[in-house]
Amino acid sequence: MTSDRYSIGVDLGGTNLRISAYRETSSHSGTITDSIGLPTRVADGPLAVVDDMGNAILGLLDKHGRGEDFAGVGLGTPGPLELPEGVLRHLPNFPGFDGFPLRDALQEKIAAPVVIESDANLAALAEFRLGSGKTYGVSSLCMLTLGTGVGNGIILDGKIFDGNNGMAGEAGHNTVVPDGEDCACGSKGCLELYASATGVQRMAAASRAMRGEGKAGGDSAMLTARHIAEYALAGDEYALTVFARVGTALGIGIGALVNTLNLPLYVVGGGMSAAWDLFAPRMMEELRMRSYVYRLTAPDAEQAAGRSPRKTHVVRAELGSDAGILGACLLPLMPE
Ligand SMILES: [Zn+2]
Repeated sequence: MTSDRYSIGVDLGGTNLRISAYRETSSHSGTITDSIGLPTRVADGPLAVVDDMGNAILGLLDKHGRGEDFAGVGLGTPGPLELPEGVLRHLPNFPGFDGFPLRDALQEKIAAPVVIESDANLAALAEFRLGSGKTYGVSSLCMLTLGTGVGNGIILDGKIFDGNNGMAGEAGHNTVVPDGEDCACGSKGCLELYASATGVQRMAAASRAMRGEGKAGGDSAMLTARHIAEYALAGDEYALTVFARVGTALGIGIGALVNTLNLPLYVVGGGMSAAWDLFAPRMMEELRMRSYVYRLTAPDAEQAAGRSPRKTHVVRAELGSDAGILGACLLPLMPE
């Protein structure tokens, strides 16, 4: 294994832009050596955003060089996007970016190779190489990232599974409630409507409205998912019900993934995974009921401690909010 190579990763978010240099010491370790944070100038259009990320990358290239140890630039964006061309498709928080050839524009600006992927796939890659994938010693995993929406990334035999058009891993838009709420994707009852932070807020607001009270004092105040989790931890019955619904939705969603993929590891990450203890018991109960593949392959208590790779493990992500940028840094370092 070549050691001591370096890469540059870019995490393009709707609010923040992060650019980091990463030095690899082995395939399963390395460190971020520099990090630049900027606001994402979405309103100024795609060229302004490319300028900002390009200038930051050029600064890092000046500092670290373009020698043989430089592996390239990895760029993570919200999906969906077309791969390998790296053309953006209908990003909800990026008006005016539809059809923009992001990878080519950035390559031209910095005169260096750029590999692009969706941020959920990159979080899965980071978790595979540096987090629970490493802990469990597996070569494949499926990750759900619970944030504003529900991202999904699949690693098969050590590589990101992109699908035919780069659009594999959209399990956040699998139906878990047939006649459920309308989703921005055009469907109804998608997993992300019940298992995202936004979904928790919506369900909590609906249950508060139903009992005609505003627990935070002002009924116009929209509680954050974190506040609702605090109420649940304090024993608030309605808040507990909301997280039980999160667990049910995840159990149905993950059950379908286990039945379809039969992978050894399913990882739940993202900001909402902090509420793991609130939704996981219901999630595991639902998963057992929905997936006979899970029942046949679930670790018993002793095997869970032994992390048998022949079993199906469902775990909380080990990496926190750095998963996206780490995945972007790892992407150019991946074997072809
Ligand atoms: Zn949807």
